[in-house]
Amino acid sequence: MKTAIVGGTIIDGTGAPPIEDGVVLVEEGKIAAVGREGEVPIPQGVEIIDARARFLLPGLIDCHVHVYYPGFVPTPPRGLPQAYAGVVALRNLRCALQAGVTTVRDLGSGYIALALKTAIDRGLVLGPRVLAAGAGICITGGHGSGPVDWCSALEADGPEAVKQAVRRERKAGANLIKLLASNRHGDFSEFTIDELKAGVEEAHRLGMRVAVHASTFSATKAAALAGADTIEHGIAIEEETAAIMAEKGIVLVPTLWVLHDIFEEAKALKEKYQKEGEYRYHPDRERIEGTLRVYTGIMEDIPRTMEIVHKHGVKVATGTDNIRATRPFAMLHREIEFLTRYGYSNMEAIQAATKTAAEALGLAEELGTIEPGKVADLIMVDRDPLQDIAVLGEVSWVMKEGKVVSASPEWRRRPVREPWSQGGEDAA
Ligand SMILES: [Zn+2]
Repeated sequence: MKTAIVGGTIIDGTGAPPIEDGVVLVEEGKIAAVGREGEVPIPQGVEIIDARARFLLPGLIDCHVHVYYPGFVPTPPRGLPQAYAGVVALRNLRCALQAGVTTVRDLGSGYIALALKTAIDRGLVLGPRVLAAGAGICITGGHGSGPVDWCSALEADGPEAVKQAVRRERKAGANLIKLLASNRHGDFSEFTIDELKAGVEEAHRLGMRVAVHASTFSATKAAALAGADTIEHGIAIEEETAAIMAEKGIVLVPTLWVLHDIFEEAKALKEKYQKEGEYRYHPDRERIEGTLRVYTGIMEDIPRTMEIVHKHGVKVATGTDNIRATRPFAMLHREIEFLTRYGYSNMEAIQAATKTAAEALGLAEELGTIEPGKVADLIMVDRDPLQDIAVLGEVSWVMKEGKVVSASPEWRRRPVREPWSQGGEDAA
């Protein structure tokens, strides 16, 4: 099966200038040739896809998702929660694919993501390529040890127990390991450096990469020293830590959009209740004040941290960490846009969602750029994203592994319709 995508402007993810009037030849799910029209021979009988006046990019990669999280469904369903979780997660993944996200890395959703990965790999359902980190590993009572048993992280204390937890995740079929090293209540690392090192070393010994959730100065430093492959959130990073990250090639996944969104929503709610004169005795008051306390600090830390990592040349990749029912799942375009607000060029932001994201996943050989030999994961948009980055929220054509994904209104970007809400409309 051969396909030629002809006439579009190719932004190939390598950072090279766009190729106008480009041709991408796709064969057996892989990119066979890339170049200008006239330079790439188009064999007889191939299927031609007209890309004239459009822009062709590598499929987008979301390095930080939770395909299911109880926050998606504040009102529990009838019946088995896990069964419902599977359906919500499946819907999330299908919407993400239609929005141009051809690969996701799940960093903890019980084992829902692994089940869905199996279903997608077997061709039961259509969705992005999934890499999944099982349940995640935290200290007893630490960040991630949530109230919902079947989708909380595994608790492990001491280097030996962390090693054992890594092996349990591997046994469950995890593709990578997630370690949760901090919360935002005080600047300390929940895991000790010895525990982090034990987890990283064991995972690496078994051929698995490690993502560390770290959001305080001490936790990001510990994660960097322990040799994590990616640091999730970051938020507070010292110069010294950034230098270690740059030197070791540790990728930061800053999840900027969700952090801003949570803060903005809490602020807007407080203002609304205050205007209505109900805030003082509002049942939500304590929760809102708690969120504002933590997130005011986060909002203060982020600009400095992003400046430091940019200065040190730390690799940055995109991840949404969207755990909210009030927002549609597929928000990667907003994360890409947020990078441009923090000093990254449109080209750099695109690379964070393609080339660098593939590196973060350890799949730079297969994914992330439009080059011969790579998997044919491609998207098209109708305006130039180098001029207008927001157009990545309007992906109009998606190809995964050489097959065009049929667009359907059913899979438009939208939040879950909750019994208590008027939601369910297209929100973005
Ligand atoms: Zn997360």
